[in-house]
Amino acid sequence: MEHQIPQQLLDHLIRTRTEQNMFFGAEWDGETPLPSSWWLTQTKQWIQFRYWFWNEIIAPQVCCDGLVVSCAYCGWKGPRTKDTYFCLDHVVPYIEAPERWNDLNNISIACNHCNKKKGNLSLKEFLETTH
Ligand SMILES: [Zn+2]
Repeated sequence: MEHQIPQQLLDHLIRTRTEQNMFFGAEWDGETPLPSSWWLTQTKQWIQFRYWFWNEIIAPQVCCDGLVVSCAYCGWKGPRTKDTYFCLDHVVPYIEAPERWNDLNNISIACNHCNKKKGNLSLKEFLETTH
């Protein structure tokens, strides 16, 4: 038996989350380079992108295609706790390529620990420091 999230519920979740996030997220034109990735995380665009990514791209694959979400760097598969959870990581750091902030080819799923360790390092630099 398939475990499918009813579309109505999904719509409701997306809508309420989006409404809440519109309230909390800062206005940004989506183009002006921000001082750091932290600033990006505070924008309405990033919050909306993040929910779109999880709800529209990942959730259907998890529910229907059996995708197991894991950290691209350490392989952690959850379940999430207060201290460990999934983040979206910019493979080429935001600071290096701000225009790729919402480029799906530059986004990978990482746990918050790897995401923090990677910081502004390139993939090569990160792998050299951790392996
Ligand atoms: Zn990890």
